[in-house]
Amino acid sequence: MHDSGRRQFDLPSGAGNPRGLLIAAVIFVCGVLLLSTALHVRWDKAQAMAKSTEAMQTLAAALNSQAESTIRVADTVLTALISMHRSGGHGEANIRELNQVARTQIRELGELDGLYMSDANGQYFLATNAETHALNNADRVYFQHHRQRADSELYIGQPVRGKTTGQWVITLSKGIYEDDGTFRGVALATLSVERFRSLYRSLPLGEQGIVVLAKRDGTILARSESDAQTYLTNISQSPMLQAINQGIDKGSVTLTAIVDGVRRIYGFDASPKYPVLVAVAMPEREALAAWKRRAWSMWGFALAAVLGVGIMGLLVLRALGRQSAMAVELHAAHQSLATANTTLKTLATEDGLTGLANRRHLDGYLASVFQRAGSEGTPLAFALVDVDFFKGYNDAYGHQRGDQALIEVSKAMRARVRREGDLVARYGGEEMAIVLPDVSAEQALAMAEQVREAVQRLGIEHRQSAYDQITVSIGVVAGVPGEAFSDPEAMVAAADQALYAAKGGGRNRVVLASH
Ligand code: GH3
Ligand code: MG
Ligand code: MG
Repeated sequence: MHDSGRRQFDLPSGAGNPRGLLIAAVIFVCGVLLLSTALHVRWDKAQAMAKSTEAMQTLAAALNSQAESTIRVADTVLTALISMHRSGGHGEANIRELNQVARTQIRELGELDGLYMSDANGQYFLATNAETHALNNADRVYFQHHRQRADSELYIGQPVRGKTTGQWVITLSKGIYEDDGTFRGVALATLSVERFRSLYRSLPLGEQGIVVLAKRDGTILARSESDAQTYLTNISQSPMLQAINQGIDKGSVTLTAIVDGVRRIYGFDASPKYPVLVAVAMPEREALAAWKRRAWSMWGFALAAVLGVGIMGLLVLRALGRQSAMAVELHAAHQSLATANTTLKTLATEDGLTGLANRRHLDGYLASVFQRAGSEGTPLAFALVDVDFFKGYNDAYGHQRGDQALIEVSKAMRARVRREGDLVARYGGEEMAIVLPDVSAEQALAMAEQVREAVQRLGIEHRQSAYDQITVSIGVVAGVPGEAFSDPEAMVAAADQALYAAKGGGRNRVVLASH
């Protein structure tokens, strides 16, 4: 019972180790929670980036097609004017008609700012803006471009400040040539940079968003944010233009601008027909703003969950601790119960007054040694010891002193009978018994004599006794069980007879039973 209890109490800290298991489970769950959150937040960021990138690319494509169609309109109108000039000649009537046509076109098309034609010296002979008539454009880059090479391609020039208006304009020009290639002048259409700028600025790209219309050679034509310096800047070195010039007409990049240190997502789209492109960019921070808010709330939830799991773990750990404390208490209770059991067992075999073995124990013990000695053929001795004139002692000194005397006598007896296997027991009343296994009659007699002497030597005064002190009479019997005695009772009866003889013989003596 004790053993099984011990095993049960060891359980909380033993092989199962629920505390360790619980801590491992909590760590595992929290780890999985945090890892899955991290993965989801990362995936969400990639999604947000992909969405913004796609949006930038789509917008760039739309703006590029808008720019392309404006340029195409200019191209068409210029081609028509040149062909009218060629077929109608440089006569006054034709020039007047050309001017009228050009003005009508400007009015009706709306996209173009002005239309001009100048002769081989740069002298205007057509201008939708009357004030420019007197001016000369021989100094302009586009003029020199057409004078130098006789091709009919549209030339998209660097933005210039209009000579009369002072406004920045994009120049689209075509050369006028004779059939033999002789340079006869330039036809020019101007586009207001401001018109592009206000369109670009109307797009919801945020404070630091950028839209650029540029030439493939890096010349900036229009820009959402611009100053005078803008149109002198060349962006041919940007990774985007380098990609375009390597044949990638549309795409996206994420770059940190050297100018302002802002990291942006760029979408770009280059025209297949004209050497222009549009790039649209928005700050990465802005593109990820919504993602960032989501990430915060996702981490918030994850941390709250981790906290919850942790607290729950702690509560369970505490409960486990309480349980093991209870187990310890239970263990202690079991131990004291075991002690009580042992005490009870002792009580069951011990005489309460003298501390000697009690009658019950004596009977059991005598029976077992009787049987063993019988089967081994070894001798066994038994003695009955009776205090002399004890009734008189009680009468004279009182029952309490009588008890005390019994205790003293018992002590003296036990001091003399000390071999292993010997037993001194209280037989009943003031009678004691001694069991001496493996002892001959002579040895038993000698030991009994020693006991008798020891009691006498105690010198307990007893005025009612013939000896003036407490003495005992002892009846001894010895022999091999089965040979001399058929059972323990016979042995006890023989000892009792010997005791009777000792009493009769005058007390304070030992008598060996004769059988
Ligand atoms: P004898 O010499 O013939 O043995 O005379 P006795 O007086 O000793 O014999 P008896 O059997 O007449 O009396 C025994 C007495 O022992 C009676 C009883 O009062 C006393 N006695 C028995 N058990 C106890 C005990 O536990 N305590 C005390 N104080 N007295 C006891
Ligand atoms: Mg008696
Ligand atoms: Mg007596």
